[in-house]
Amino acid sequence: MRIVIKVGTSTLAHTNGLLNIRRVENLCKVLSDLKNAGNDIILVTSGAIGMGCGKLQLKEKPKDVATKQAAAAVGQCELMYVYDKLFSEYNHNVAQLLLTGSDFEDYTRHTNFMNTMDRLLELSALPIINENDTVATDEIKVGDNDTLSALVAVSVNADLLVLLSDIDGLFTADPHKNADARLINVISEIDENVKKLAGGEGSSLGTGGMVTKLRAAEICTADTCDMIIANGQNPFLLYDIIEGKAVGTRFLKRMVKR
Ligand code: GLU
Repeated sequence: MRIVIKVGTSTLAHTNGLLNIRRVENLCKVLSDLKNAGNDIILVTSGAIGMGCGKLQLKEKPKDVATKQAAAAVGQCELMYVYDKLFSEYNHNVAQLLLTGSDFEDYTRHTNFMNTMDRLLELSALPIINENDTVATDEIKVGDNDTLSALVAVSVNADLLVLLSDIDGLFTADPHKNADARLINVISEIDENVKKLAGGEGSSLGTGGMVTKLRAAEICTADTCDMIIANGQNPFLLYDIIEGKAVGTRFLKRMVKR
């Protein structure tokens, strides 16, 4: 299988922005194992801004663009340092790709991206993607990594996109407020009722929320890629997902892969 896994800041970092070492170690271990088993693994990672804030000891997520971009520049180094170190332990070579929205809109840049991805996967490297936050201003950015990971999944013709988040999936009501809220296992159509279930909130350090996750699901499922929202607290869940067990919320693709 070709799988894109997107990991959010809330999975990678503690609330103060510093690395959640146990979580990241487990994630890299599972992804290395899935790669050893013959799957193509592509990681889309958030956490640059959050980790930069931690390293720079900023008390909260900055509001101005320049400080956000500065934090991203600091945090991205830290992120790749950690991934390189951990994946190296399992003999996997990581590759960093920083993209913005215009890289998907411009034909030449998009083709270059796809050619590079093909070659990296042929060379058995593990592509690690984030938005190029230091240059991405409002006009050209994708804006959130849920959407970015869906654009990546469609570009590389992935079989599955997994969004690892701080929630088990999509619920019938807000599980923080309603004890009767029930996890929805499968969604075959993203209609108005499903959209109404998505609240707007994300974590204090990340960018996404359920709204961006549904947008990602729309992009994937309109193509040939299923998408799953699952809880990133336990990266070992990825084994169950690959085995086809019911984990989190699965959005079913519309088109049949040729
Ligand atoms: N690119 C941002 C970062 O690395 C994250 C965006 C997101 O969380 O969706 O901090």
